Amino acid sequence: MSNMEKTLSIVKPDAVERNLEGEIKEIFKNNGFQIIKEKKIQIEKSEAEKFYKVHETKPFYNDLCGYLSSGPIIVMILQKANAVKENRELMGATNPKDAHDGTIRKKYGISIDKNSVHGSDSVDNAKIEIDFFFKD
Ligand code: UDP
Ligand code: MG
Repeated sequence: MSNMEKTLSIVKPDAVERNLEGEIKEIFKNNGFQIIKEKKIQIEKSEAEKFYKVHETKPFYNDLCGYLSSGPIIVMILQKANAVKENRELMGATNPKDAHDGTIRKKYGISIDKNSVHGSDSVDNAKIEIDFFFKD
Protein backbone atom coordinates (compact mmCIF):
# COMPACT_ATOMS: atom_id res chain seq x y z
CA MET A 1 0.00 0.00 0.00
CA SER A 2 1.55 3.28 -1.02
CA ASN A 3 0.65 6.73 0.12
CA MET A 4 2.35 8.68 -2.65
CA GLU A 5 2.55 12.36 -1.76
CA LYS A 6 4.10 15.54 -3.06
CA THR A 7 5.70 18.17 -0.88
CA LEU A 8 7.37 21.50 -1.46
CA SER A 9 11.05 21.86 -0.68
CA ILE A 10 13.10 25.04 -0.86
CA VAL A 11 16.87 25.29 -0.79
CA LYS A 12 17.21 28.61 1.02
CA PRO A 13 19.60 31.47 0.15
CA ASP A 14 22.30 30.47 2.66
CA ALA A 15 22.63 27.05 1.01
CA VAL A 16 22.40 28.27 -2.59
CA GLU A 17 25.08 30.84 -1.76
CA ARG A 18 27.38 28.05 -0.55
CA ASN A 19 26.72 26.04 -3.72
CA LEU A 20 24.98 23.24 -1.81
CA GLU A 21 22.14 22.78 -4.30
CA GLY A 22 23.69 19.69 -5.90
CA GLU A 23 24.59 18.00 -2.62
CA ILE A 24 21.16 18.60 -1.13
CA LYS A 25 19.41 17.25 -4.23
CA GLU A 26 21.59 14.13 -4.02
CA ILE A 27 20.49 13.64 -0.42
CA PHE A 28 16.85 13.78 -1.48
CA LYS A 29 17.42 11.32 -4.33
CA ASN A 30 19.46 8.97 -2.13
CA ASN A 31 16.56 8.96 0.31
CA GLY A 32 14.06 7.90 -2.32
CA PHE A 33 12.57 11.26 -3.25
CA GLN A 34 11.84 12.01 -6.87
CA ILE A 35 12.30 15.63 -7.90
CA ILE A 36 9.22 16.21 -10.05
CA LYS A 37 9.80 19.89 -10.81
CA GLU A 38 12.43 22.41 -9.83
CA LYS A 39 13.41 25.96 -10.60
CA LYS A 40 15.91 28.52 -9.42
CA ILE A 41 14.28 31.86 -8.70
CA GLN A 42 14.59 34.95 -6.57
CA ILE A 43 11.37 36.24 -5.04
CA GLU A 44 10.27 39.70 -3.96
CA LYS A 45 9.88 40.40 -0.26
CA SER A 46 6.14 40.84 -0.84
CA GLU A 47 5.97 37.27 -2.20
CA ALA A 48 7.90 35.94 0.81
CA GLU A 49 5.38 37.73 3.04
CA LYS A 50 2.58 35.90 1.27
CA PHE A 51 4.37 32.55 1.44
CA TYR A 52 5.07 32.88 5.18
CA LYS A 53 1.75 34.58 6.04
CA VAL A 54 1.09 31.94 8.71
CA HIS A 55 3.98 33.50 10.65
CA GLU A 56 2.91 37.14 10.27
CA THR A 57 2.42 37.73 13.99
CA LYS A 58 5.80 36.23 14.95
CA PRO A 59 8.68 38.48 15.99
CA PHE A 60 10.93 36.91 13.35
CA TYR A 61 8.47 37.44 10.45
CA ASN A 62 10.05 40.56 8.95
CA ASP A 63 13.60 39.19 9.05
CA LEU A 64 12.41 35.83 7.74
CA CYS A 65 10.76 37.41 4.70
CA GLY A 66 13.73 39.66 4.09
CA TYR A 67 15.98 36.63 4.26
CA LEU A 68 13.99 34.35 1.93
CA SER A 69 13.97 37.12 -0.68
CA SER A 70 17.64 38.04 -0.20
CA GLY A 71 19.07 35.77 -2.88
CA PRO A 72 18.36 32.91 -5.26
CA ILE A 73 16.48 29.87 -3.99
CA ILE A 74 15.70 26.47 -5.49
CA VAL A 75 12.04 25.47 -5.23
CA MET A 76 11.27 21.80 -5.82
CA ILE A 77 8.34 19.44 -5.80
CA LEU A 78 9.44 16.21 -4.11
CA GLN A 79 7.48 12.98 -4.46
CA LYS A 80 7.67 9.86 -2.32
CA ALA A 81 5.39 7.74 -0.14
CA ASN A 82 4.57 9.91 2.90
CA ALA A 83 6.72 12.67 1.38
CA VAL A 84 5.59 15.41 3.77
CA LYS A 85 6.59 13.59 6.94
CA GLU A 86 9.64 11.91 5.37
CA ASN A 87 10.96 15.27 4.20
CA ARG A 88 10.41 16.87 7.60
CA GLU A 89 12.41 14.03 9.18
CA LEU A 90 15.21 14.31 6.65
CA MET A 91 15.38 18.11 7.13
CA GLY A 92 15.67 17.91 10.91
CA ALA A 93 14.67 20.39 13.59
CA THR A 94 14.10 24.07 12.76
CA ASN A 95 17.09 25.01 14.89
CA PRO A 96 20.14 23.19 13.48
CA LYS A 97 21.50 22.96 17.04
CA ASP A 98 18.62 20.59 17.84
CA ALA A 99 18.78 18.64 14.58
CA HIS A 100 19.84 15.00 14.71
CA ASP A 101 22.80 13.47 12.91
CA GLY A 102 22.01 12.56 9.33
CA THR A 103 19.61 15.46 8.79
CA ILE A 104 20.12 18.22 6.26
CA ARG A 105 19.88 20.99 8.83
CA LYS A 106 22.41 19.27 11.11
CA LYS A 107 24.83 18.97 8.21
CA TYR A 108 24.37 22.38 6.58
CA GLY A 109 22.31 24.67 8.81
CA ILE A 110 24.11 27.71 10.18
CA SER A 111 21.51 29.05 12.62
CA ILE A 112 17.78 28.99 13.28
CA ASP A 113 17.19 31.59 10.57
CA LYS A 114 19.79 30.28 8.11
CA ASN A 115 18.71 26.66 8.27
CA SER A 116 19.26 25.82 4.60
CA VAL A 117 15.92 24.20 3.70
CA HIS A 118 12.17 24.65 3.90
CA GLY A 119 9.65 21.81 3.79
CA SER A 120 5.86 21.79 3.90
CA ASP A 121 4.51 20.79 7.31
CA SER A 122 1.25 19.08 6.25
CA VAL A 123 -0.33 17.55 3.18
CA ASP A 124 -2.77 20.48 2.95
CA ASN A 125 0.01 23.06 3.18
CA ALA A 126 2.06 21.10 0.64
CA LYS A 127 -0.73 21.57 -1.91
CA ILE A 128 -0.99 25.28 -1.13
CA GLU A 129 2.79 25.78 -1.30
CA ILE A 130 3.18 23.78 -4.52
CA ASP A 131 0.45 25.91 -6.12
CA PHE A 132 2.14 29.05 -4.81
CA PHE A 133 5.30 28.36 -6.79
CA PHE A 134 4.19 26.14 -9.66
CA LYS A 135 0.70 27.25 -10.68
CA ASP A 136 1.11 28.97 -14.04
N1 UDP B 1 12.57 31.06 12.16
C1 UDP B 1 13.39 32.02 12.73
N2 UDP B 1 13.36 32.18 14.08
C2 UDP B 1 12.57 31.45 14.90
C3 UDP B 1 11.74 30.46 14.32
C4 UDP B 1 11.77 30.30 12.95
O1 UDP B 1 14.12 32.70 12.01
O2 UDP B 1 12.59 31.64 16.11
C5 UDP B 1 12.59 30.88 10.70
C6 UDP B 1 13.33 29.62 10.31
O3 UDP B 1 14.10 29.91 9.16
C7 UDP B 1 12.23 28.66 9.97
C8 UDP B 1 11.14 29.58 9.44
O4 UDP B 1 11.26 30.76 10.24
O5 UDP B 1 12.65 27.70 9.04
C9 UDP B 1 9.74 29.07 9.54
O6 UDP B 1 9.50 28.68 10.90
P1 UDP B 1 8.80 27.29 11.21
O7 UDP B 1 8.46 27.30 12.65
O8 UDP B 1 7.68 27.06 10.24
O9 UDP B 1 9.97 26.23 10.99
P2 UDP B 1 10.18 25.12 9.86
O10 UDP B 1 8.81 24.63 9.45
O11 UDP B 1 10.92 25.77 8.74
O12 UDP B 1 10.98 24.05 10.54
MG1 MG C 1 7.15 25.66 8.87
